[in-house]
Amino acid sequence: MTTITETINREAAELQPQLVAWRRDFHAHPELGFQEIRTAGIVAEHLHDLGLEVSTGIGKTGVVAMVEGDGVDADAPTVLLRFDMDALPVWEETGLPFASQNPGLMHACGHDGHTAIGMGVARLLARHRENLRGRVKLVFQPAEEISQGAAAMIADGVLANPTPAAAFAMHLWSRLPLNQVVVQPGPLWAAADRFDLIIHGKGGHGATPHDTIDTTLVACQIVVALQTIVARNVNPSETAVVTVGSFQSGSASNIISERAVLTGTVRTFDPAVRSLVHQRIQEIAAGICQAFGARYEFTVPTSCPATASSPEGAALMQQVAEAVVGPEQVAQIAPMMVGEDMAEFLNRAPGGFVLVGAASPETGPFSPHHSPTFDFDERMLSTGVALMANTAFAWLDEQAD
Ligand SMILES: [Zn+2]
Ligand SMILES: [Zn+2]
Repeated sequence: MTTITETINREAAELQPQLVAWRRDFHAHPELGFQEIRTAGIVAEHLHDLGLEVSTGIGKTGVVAMVEGDGVDADAPTVLLRFDMDALPVWEETGLPFASQNPGLMHACGHDGHTAIGMGVARLLARHRENLRGRVKLVFQPAEEISQGAAAMIADGVLANPTPAAAFAMHLWSRLPLNQVVVQPGPLWAAADRFDLIIHGKGGHGATPHDTIDTTLVACQIVVALQTIVARNVNPSETAVVTVGSFQSGSASNIISERAVLTGTVRTFDPAVRSLVHQRIQEIAAGICQAFGARYEFTVPTSCPATASSPEGAALMQQVAEAVVGPEQVAQIAPMMVGEDMAEFLNRAPGGFVLVGAASPETGPFSPHHSPTFDFDERMLSTGVALMANTAFAWLDEQAD
């Protein structure tokens, strides 16, 4: 690794008090997806103060800034770094002094940390433009938790003018040892598809079932049969989850329901398994509905592909991670069924997605992500900055060499 790596590691560590201050401010003021007005405002002002060219309102509330190396050619390569900004509809129960001041909203996934890290990365990249052999597009993304922010930013042209050839991101993870970096080629997080299944039957009196088509009964058969997909259709050496998370049917004890609504999620890694599961859900719904004389509608309102690092992206981040945290702190894990719309960027600009451990060595892992008592060890913040800033330098160096 070059001397810039050591410089960045040192300056990231010096930035730690500022990173904590930024993170706690964002934590106290969480905002839901596409409503990150205050957050985006602070980010944009910071980027502007660094002298960067800033665009706001990209994908509704997203912010984009370019850091250009000194004297680089017009056709010099561009790398994209992504940081997500949104919070969750969770009532915070941490009792922290900087707990959420917005009732019912909480940064329960660590995106407050990601936003602070992104601001730190911007500062160090802007400070060392003379070492940047190309351009870095800093992307502060809204609405990751509802899997819509990345797509919205792409629709607004975030991948054009200039088009990045690679994209990188990280997620802090409260269940992994502090400052452990998980990096591996292939899918780390799963494709996540929400599905809605509406069953239409024929309502009637609870005492005259022979005149009706009971959607509660039909939907029950479907829920049970859907569990055969993973058990009997997916190859046992592959991985898939089919979950029906909500079931709504009927309005009173003596009325046979004419409509049932099921919503669920499908999680997979392999695209062929993913389409098999989607196909089987519809075949099962169609077959059961036909048997009972009911009708169904199947929709997939939101979906995102598996989040995977390319072999080259993983190799680069592995090298950078070893220089930031030491080889003994770089690890691989079994892929997780969590979804992440960074996949939308990675499918268009292959690169890397890594996890940075944020469990406390003193008190152990924090509550799970998305829980009301979630928290993370802030000592990972400067690691995140060093990791992402060094990745940008290293990727651009690799293109230039
Ligand atoms: Zn989350
Ligand atoms: Zn997250």
